[in-house]
Amino acid sequence: MIDRIYRTAVLSVAGNKTVEELVRTRGWSIAQRFVAGDELADAVRAVEELEREGVYGILDLLGEMVTSEEEANTFAEKILAILDALEGKPYPKYVSIKLSQIGQDLPSPQGENLGMVNARRILARARQIGAFVRLDMEDHPRTDQTLAEFRTLVGEFGAQTVGTVLQSYLYRTEGDLASLADLAPNLRIVKGAYLEPESVAMTNKVDVDAAYRRLVYAHLKAGHPTAIATHDEHIIDDVKRFVLAHGIARSQFEFQMLYGIRRDLQRQLAREGYTVRAYIPYGRDWYAYFSRRIAERPANVMFVLRGMLKG
Ligand SMILES: Cc1cc2nc3c(=O)[nH]c(=O)nc-3n(C[C@H](O)[C@H](O)[C@H](O)COP(=O)(O)OP(=O)(O)OC[C@H]3O[C@@H](n4cnc5c(N)ncnc54)[C@H](O)[C@@H]3O)c2cc1C
Repeated sequence: MIDRIYRTAVLSVAGNKTVEELVRTRGWSIAQRFVAGDELADAVRAVEELEREGVYGILDLLGEMVTSEEEANTFAEKILAILDALEGKPYPKYVSIKLSQIGQDLPSPQGENLGMVNARRILARARQIGAFVRLDMEDHPRTDQTLAEFRTLVGEFGAQTVGTVLQSYLYRTEGDLASLADLAPNLRIVKGAYLEPESVAMTNKVDVDAAYRRLVYAHLKAGHPTAIATHDEHIIDDVKRFVLAHGIARSQFEFQMLYGIRRDLQRQLAREGYTVRAYIPYGRDWYAYFSRRIAERPANVMFVLRGMLKG
Protein backbone atom coordinates (compact mmCIF):
# COMPACT_ATOMS: atom_id res chain seq x y z
CA MET A 1 0.00 0.00 0.00
CA ILE A 2 2.81 2.42 0.97
CA ASP A 3 4.48 1.58 -2.36
CA ARG A 4 1.34 2.55 -4.18
CA ILE A 5 0.87 5.80 -2.26
CA TYR A 6 4.48 6.71 -2.96
CA ARG A 7 4.22 5.85 -6.65
CA THR A 8 0.92 7.70 -7.05
CA ALA A 9 2.41 10.78 -5.37
CA VAL A 10 5.54 10.82 -7.54
CA LEU A 11 3.77 10.19 -10.81
CA SER A 12 1.12 12.81 -10.00
CA VAL A 13 3.79 15.39 -9.18
CA ALA A 14 5.69 14.38 -12.32
CA GLY A 15 2.55 15.17 -14.34
CA ASN A 16 2.64 18.77 -13.11
CA LYS A 17 3.89 21.08 -15.88
CA THR A 18 5.93 23.32 -13.55
CA VAL A 19 7.74 20.33 -12.05
CA GLU A 20 8.34 18.95 -15.53
CA GLU A 21 9.79 22.27 -16.68
CA LEU A 22 12.10 22.44 -13.64
CA VAL A 23 13.32 18.86 -13.92
CA ARG A 24 13.73 19.08 -17.69
CA THR A 25 15.94 22.15 -17.41
CA ARG A 26 17.97 21.12 -14.39
CA GLY A 27 17.75 17.35 -14.30
CA TRP A 28 19.71 16.03 -17.28
CA SER A 29 22.82 15.27 -15.26
CA ILE A 30 20.64 13.33 -12.80
CA ALA A 31 18.75 11.50 -15.53
CA GLN A 32 22.04 10.21 -16.88
CA ARG A 33 22.06 7.61 -14.14
CA PHE A 34 19.24 5.89 -16.05
CA VAL A 35 19.78 7.12 -19.62
CA ALA A 36 22.81 6.27 -21.76
CA GLY A 37 23.02 9.63 -23.53
CA ASP A 38 21.43 11.85 -26.16
CA GLU A 39 22.55 10.09 -29.28
CA LEU A 40 22.48 6.62 -30.81
CA ALA A 41 26.28 6.54 -30.68
CA ASP A 42 26.12 6.93 -26.87
CA ALA A 43 23.72 4.01 -26.61
CA VAL A 44 25.77 1.78 -28.92
CA ARG A 45 28.82 2.58 -26.79
CA ALA A 46 26.87 1.48 -23.69
CA VAL A 47 25.82 -1.75 -25.42
CA GLU A 48 29.43 -2.52 -26.30
CA GLU A 49 30.69 -1.72 -22.81
CA LEU A 50 28.14 -4.03 -21.22
CA GLU A 51 28.81 -6.71 -23.80
CA ARG A 52 32.42 -6.85 -22.61
CA GLU A 53 31.01 -7.78 -19.18
CA GLY A 54 28.87 -10.52 -20.69
CA VAL A 55 25.61 -8.53 -20.56
CA TYR A 56 23.71 -7.92 -23.81
CA GLY A 57 21.90 -4.69 -24.64
CA ILE A 58 18.40 -3.70 -25.65
CA LEU A 59 18.33 -0.35 -27.41
CA ASP A 60 15.44 1.94 -26.59
CA LEU A 61 14.93 5.31 -28.23
CA LEU A 62 13.06 7.37 -25.64
CA GLY A 63 9.76 8.93 -26.66
CA GLU A 64 6.12 7.96 -26.36
CA MET A 65 2.51 8.93 -26.98
CA VAL A 66 3.24 11.17 -29.95
CA THR A 67 0.43 13.25 -31.35
CA SER A 68 1.60 14.19 -34.85
CA GLU A 69 2.24 12.19 -37.97
CA GLU A 70 5.53 13.96 -38.51
CA GLU A 71 6.79 13.08 -35.05
CA ALA A 72 5.70 9.44 -35.38
CA ASN A 73 7.44 9.08 -38.73
CA THR A 74 10.58 10.75 -37.38
CA PHE A 75 10.68 8.22 -34.53
CA ALA A 76 10.17 5.37 -37.00
CA GLU A 77 13.07 6.66 -39.13
CA LYS A 78 15.30 6.90 -36.06
CA ILE A 79 14.43 3.34 -35.04
CA LEU A 80 15.25 2.18 -38.58
CA ALA A 81 18.58 3.99 -38.15
CA ILE A 82 19.23 1.95 -34.99
CA LEU A 83 18.77 -1.22 -37.03
CA ASP A 84 21.12 0.13 -39.71
CA ALA A 85 23.71 0.80 -37.02
CA LEU A 86 23.34 -2.71 -35.61
CA GLU A 87 23.61 -4.47 -38.95
CA GLY A 88 26.72 -6.62 -39.03
CA LYS A 89 27.49 -6.25 -35.33
CA PRO A 90 28.74 -9.48 -33.77
CA TYR A 91 26.41 -9.36 -30.74
CA PRO A 92 22.64 -9.98 -30.55
CA LYS A 93 20.63 -7.13 -32.06
CA TYR A 94 17.65 -6.15 -29.98
CA VAL A 95 15.45 -3.06 -29.77
CA SER A 96 12.42 -2.11 -27.70
CA ILE A 97 9.81 0.19 -29.16
CA LYS A 98 6.52 1.67 -28.04
CA LEU A 99 3.64 1.58 -30.49
CA SER A 100 2.47 4.98 -29.22
CA GLN A 101 5.84 6.38 -30.26
CA ILE A 102 5.37 5.50 -33.92
CA GLY A 103 1.75 6.49 -34.41
CA GLN A 104 -0.61 4.07 -32.62
CA ASP A 105 -3.01 6.96 -31.97
CA LEU A 106 -2.92 8.36 -35.50
CA PRO A 107 -4.67 7.41 -38.73
CA SER A 108 -2.75 6.49 -41.87
CA PRO A 109 -3.67 6.66 -45.56
CA GLN A 110 -3.63 2.82 -45.59
CA GLY A 111 -6.65 2.80 -43.23
CA GLU A 112 -4.82 1.21 -40.30
CA ASN A 113 -3.24 3.30 -37.59
CA LEU A 114 0.15 4.76 -38.43
CA GLY A 115 1.77 2.74 -35.65
CA MET A 116 1.05 -0.50 -37.53
CA VAL A 117 2.37 0.92 -40.80
CA ASN A 118 5.59 1.97 -39.09
CA ALA A 119 5.83 -1.24 -37.06
CA ARG A 120 5.80 -3.24 -40.30
CA ARG A 121 8.64 -1.15 -41.75
CA ILE A 122 10.65 -1.68 -38.59
CA LEU A 123 9.93 -5.41 -38.34
CA ALA A 124 10.72 -6.02 -42.00
CA ARG A 125 14.11 -4.40 -41.53
CA ALA A 126 14.68 -6.24 -38.23
CA ARG A 127 13.94 -9.59 -39.85
CA GLN A 128 16.35 -8.77 -42.65
CA ILE A 129 19.26 -8.24 -40.24
CA GLY A 130 18.27 -10.90 -37.68
CA ALA A 131 17.23 -8.42 -34.99
CA PHE A 132 14.53 -8.88 -32.36
CA VAL A 133 11.94 -6.17 -31.62
CA ARG A 134 10.05 -5.97 -28.33
CA LEU A 135 6.79 -4.00 -28.20
CA ASP A 136 6.86 -2.41 -24.74
CA MET A 137 3.58 -2.35 -22.84
CA GLU A 138 2.23 1.06 -21.93
CA ASP A 139 -0.73 2.16 -19.81
CA HIS A 140 -3.89 0.05 -19.54
CA PRO A 141 -6.12 1.86 -22.08
CA ARG A 142 -3.67 0.56 -24.71
CA THR A 143 -3.44 -3.05 -23.57
CA ASP A 144 -6.21 -4.52 -25.77
CA GLN A 145 -5.00 -2.70 -28.85
CA THR A 146 -1.33 -3.53 -28.27
CA LEU A 147 -2.08 -7.23 -27.76
CA ALA A 148 -4.30 -7.36 -30.87
CA GLU A 149 -1.61 -5.62 -32.91
CA PHE A 150 1.05 -7.92 -31.47
CA ARG A 151 -1.04 -10.93 -32.62
CA THR A 152 -1.24 -9.52 -36.16
CA LEU A 153 2.49 -8.76 -36.25
CA VAL A 154 3.51 -12.20 -34.95
CA GLY A 155 1.35 -13.68 -37.72
CA GLU A 156 3.25 -11.64 -40.31
CA PHE A 157 6.80 -11.66 -38.94
CA GLY A 158 7.02 -14.62 -36.57
CA ALA A 159 7.69 -14.95 -32.85
CA GLN A 160 11.47 -14.96 -33.47
CA THR A 161 11.25 -11.35 -34.68
CA VAL A 162 8.67 -9.74 -32.42
CA GLY A 163 7.66 -10.09 -28.78
CA THR A 164 5.70 -8.05 -26.28
CA VAL A 165 5.34 -7.43 -22.56
CA LEU A 166 2.78 -8.43 -19.90
CA GLN A 167 2.40 -6.55 -16.60
CA SER A 168 1.67 -8.53 -13.44
CA TYR A 169 -0.08 -5.61 -11.67
CA LEU A 170 -3.08 -5.77 -14.01
CA TYR A 171 -5.87 -8.09 -12.93
CA ARG A 172 -6.45 -9.10 -16.55
CA THR A 173 -2.95 -10.38 -17.26
CA GLU A 174 -3.31 -14.08 -16.43
CA GLY A 175 -6.19 -14.16 -18.91
CA ASP A 176 -4.04 -12.37 -21.50
CA LEU A 177 -1.26 -14.90 -21.03
CA ALA A 178 -3.69 -17.76 -21.67
CA SER A 179 -5.17 -16.04 -24.71
CA LEU A 180 -1.74 -15.58 -26.32
CA ALA A 181 -0.58 -19.17 -25.77
CA ASP A 182 -1.40 -20.34 -29.31
CA LEU A 183 1.28 -17.95 -30.62
CA ALA A 184 4.05 -19.53 -28.50
CA PRO A 185 5.01 -15.90 -27.89
CA ASN A 186 8.24 -14.46 -26.64
CA LEU A 187 7.07 -12.46 -23.62
CA ARG A 188 8.80 -10.15 -21.22
CA ILE A 189 7.12 -10.26 -17.84
CA VAL A 190 7.27 -7.06 -15.76
CA LYS A 191 5.45 -5.82 -12.68
CA GLY A 192 4.22 -2.65 -14.43
CA ALA A 193 5.37 0.96 -14.20
CA TYR A 194 2.35 3.20 -14.91
CA LEU A 195 -0.07 5.01 -12.64
CA GLU A 196 -3.17 2.83 -12.97
CA PRO A 197 -6.57 3.01 -11.27
CA GLU A 198 -7.41 0.50 -8.54
CA SER A 199 -10.20 -0.85 -10.73
CA VAL A 200 -7.64 -2.41 -13.11
CA ALA A 201 -4.41 -2.83 -11.14
CA MET A 202 -3.52 -4.49 -7.84
CA THR A 203 -2.66 -2.06 -5.08
CA ASN A 204 -0.67 -4.40 -2.89
CA LYS A 205 2.96 -5.23 -3.74
CA VAL A 206 2.63 -8.72 -2.27
CA ASP A 207 -0.17 -9.47 -4.75
CA VAL A 208 1.78 -7.98 -7.67
CA ASP A 209 4.82 -10.10 -6.77
CA ALA A 210 2.73 -13.27 -6.40
CA ALA A 211 1.07 -12.64 -9.76
CA TYR A 212 4.53 -12.02 -11.23
CA ARG A 213 5.76 -15.44 -10.11
CA ARG A 214 2.61 -17.17 -11.41
CA LEU A 215 2.98 -15.56 -14.84
CA VAL A 216 6.67 -16.39 -15.18
CA TYR A 217 6.21 -19.97 -14.01
CA ALA A 218 3.22 -20.55 -16.31
CA HIS A 219 5.02 -19.18 -19.36
CA LEU A 220 8.17 -21.15 -18.61
CA LYS A 221 6.22 -24.36 -18.03
CA ALA A 222 4.38 -23.88 -21.32
CA GLY A 223 7.81 -24.00 -22.98
CA HIS A 224 7.76 -20.45 -24.42
CA PRO A 225 10.62 -17.91 -24.46
CA THR A 226 10.48 -15.80 -21.32
CA ALA A 227 12.26 -12.58 -20.41
CA ILE A 228 12.19 -12.19 -16.64
CA ALA A 229 12.49 -8.43 -16.33
CA THR A 230 12.96 -7.53 -12.69
CA HIS A 231 15.62 -6.41 -10.20
CA ASP A 232 13.88 -8.33 -7.43
CA GLU A 233 16.49 -10.73 -6.05
CA HIS A 234 13.93 -12.90 -4.27
CA ILE A 235 12.06 -13.50 -7.50
CA ILE A 236 15.28 -14.10 -9.40
CA ASP A 237 16.39 -16.70 -6.84
CA ASP A 238 12.98 -18.39 -6.97
CA VAL A 239 13.12 -18.50 -10.77
CA LYS A 240 16.57 -20.10 -10.63
CA ARG A 241 15.18 -22.81 -8.34
CA PHE A 242 12.04 -23.23 -10.47
CA VAL A 243 13.93 -23.80 -13.71
CA LEU A 244 16.22 -26.33 -12.02
CA ALA A 245 13.29 -28.22 -10.50
CA HIS A 246 11.42 -28.32 -13.82
CA GLY A 247 14.37 -29.05 -16.09
CA ILE A 248 13.87 -25.83 -18.08
CA ALA A 249 16.81 -25.08 -20.38
CA ARG A 250 18.68 -21.82 -19.89
CA SER A 251 18.15 -21.09 -23.59
CA GLN A 252 14.41 -20.68 -22.94
CA PHE A 253 14.70 -17.69 -20.64
CA GLU A 254 16.77 -14.68 -19.78
CA PHE A 255 16.96 -12.04 -17.09
CA GLN A 256 16.46 -8.41 -18.08
CA MET A 257 17.19 -5.28 -16.08
CA LEU A 258 17.34 -1.55 -16.66
CA TYR A 259 20.46 0.43 -17.48
CA GLY A 260 21.91 1.94 -14.31
CA ILE A 261 20.04 -0.36 -11.93
CA ARG A 262 21.67 -3.32 -10.16
CA ARG A 263 24.61 -3.54 -12.51
CA ASP A 264 26.30 -5.74 -9.89
CA LEU A 265 23.47 -8.25 -10.15
CA GLN A 266 23.51 -8.09 -13.95
CA ARG A 267 27.22 -8.98 -13.98
CA GLN A 268 26.82 -11.67 -11.36
CA LEU A 269 24.03 -13.46 -13.24
CA ALA A 270 26.05 -13.25 -16.45
CA ARG A 271 29.04 -14.78 -14.65
CA GLU A 272 26.77 -17.59 -13.46
CA GLY A 273 26.06 -18.35 -17.10
CA TYR A 274 22.55 -16.91 -17.46
CA THR A 275 21.63 -14.75 -20.41
CA VAL A 276 21.26 -11.19 -19.12
CA ARG A 277 20.10 -8.18 -21.09
CA ALA A 278 20.08 -4.56 -20.02
CA TYR A 279 17.49 -2.15 -21.39
CA ILE A 280 19.43 0.89 -22.58
CA PRO A 281 17.36 4.03 -23.12
CA TYR A 282 18.77 7.03 -24.91
CA GLY A 283 17.54 10.26 -26.46
CA ARG A 284 16.25 13.65 -25.45
CA ASP A 285 12.74 12.61 -24.54
CA TRP A 286 13.75 11.19 -21.16
CA TYR A 287 11.30 12.84 -18.78
CA ALA A 288 8.49 10.23 -18.69
CA TYR A 289 10.93 7.31 -18.45
CA PHE A 290 12.91 9.07 -15.73
CA SER A 291 9.74 9.85 -13.71
CA ARG A 292 8.76 6.17 -13.73
CA ARG A 293 12.20 5.18 -12.43
CA ILE A 294 11.96 7.72 -9.61
CA ALA A 295 8.47 6.50 -8.74
CA GLU A 296 9.76 2.94 -8.31
CA ARG A 297 11.96 3.60 -5.34
CA PRO A 298 11.66 6.18 -2.52
CA ALA A 299 15.47 6.48 -2.22
CA ASN A 300 15.51 7.84 -5.78
CA VAL A 301 13.68 11.01 -4.76
CA MET A 302 16.53 11.92 -2.42
CA PHE A 303 18.95 11.24 -5.23
CA VAL A 304 17.03 13.70 -7.45
CA LEU A 305 16.70 16.35 -4.77
CA ARG A 306 20.41 16.17 -3.92
CA GLY A 307 21.26 16.45 -7.62
CA MET A 308 18.91 19.43 -8.14
CA LEU A 309 20.30 21.28 -5.14
CA LYS A 310 23.87 20.72 -6.37
CA GLY A 311 22.95 21.78 -9.91
C1 LIG B 1 14.04 -4.73 -19.12
C2 LIG B 1 12.83 -4.09 -18.54
C3 LIG B 1 11.80 -3.68 -19.38
C4 LIG B 1 10.64 -3.12 -18.87
N1 LIG B 1 9.59 -2.82 -19.72
C5 LIG B 1 8.42 -2.39 -19.19
C6 LIG B 1 7.27 -2.22 -20.00
O1 LIG B 1 7.28 -2.46 -21.22
N2 LIG B 1 6.13 -1.76 -19.41
C7 LIG B 1 6.05 -1.49 -18.06
O2 LIG B 1 4.98 -1.12 -17.57
N3 LIG B 1 7.15 -1.64 -17.28
C8 LIG B 1 8.31 -2.08 -17.80
N4 LIG B 1 9.40 -2.25 -16.98
C9 LIG B 1 9.38 -1.70 -15.59
C10 LIG B 1 8.76 -2.66 -14.58
O3 LIG B 1 7.37 -2.73 -14.79
C11 LIG B 1 9.02 -2.20 -13.13
O4 LIG B 1 8.44 -0.95 -12.93
C12 LIG B 1 10.49 -2.11 -12.76
O5 LIG B 1 11.21 -3.18 -13.30
C13 LIG B 1 10.68 -2.14 -11.23
O6 LIG B 1 10.18 -3.32 -10.69
P1 LIG B 1 11.06 -4.57 -10.22
O7 LIG B 1 10.45 -5.76 -10.87
O8 LIG B 1 12.48 -4.37 -10.50
O9 LIG B 1 10.78 -4.81 -8.70
P2 LIG B 1 10.56 -3.90 -7.43
O10 LIG B 1 9.86 -4.80 -6.50
O11 LIG B 1 9.93 -2.59 -7.79
O12 LIG B 1 12.03 -3.62 -6.93
C14 LIG B 1 12.89 -4.65 -6.46
C15 LIG B 1 14.26 -4.05 -6.21
O13 LIG B 1 14.82 -3.59 -7.46
C16 LIG B 1 15.54 -2.40 -7.29
N5 LIG B 1 14.88 -1.33 -8.08
C17 LIG B 1 13.68 -1.42 -8.73
N6 LIG B 1 13.41 -0.27 -9.39
C18 LIG B 1 14.45 0.56 -9.12
C19 LIG B 1 14.74 1.90 -9.51
N7 LIG B 1 13.94 2.60 -10.28
N8 LIG B 1 15.90 2.44 -9.06
C20 LIG B 1 16.76 1.74 -8.27
N9 LIG B 1 16.52 0.47 -7.87
C21 LIG B 1 15.39 -0.11 -8.30
C22 LIG B 1 15.51 -2.11 -5.80
O14 LIG B 1 16.65 -2.72 -5.25
C23 LIG B 1 14.26 -2.80 -5.34
O15 LIG B 1 14.29 -3.14 -3.99
C24 LIG B 1 10.55 -2.87 -17.47
C25 LIG B 1 11.57 -3.30 -16.61
C26 LIG B 1 12.68 -3.91 -17.12
C27 LIG B 1 13.73 -4.38 -16.17
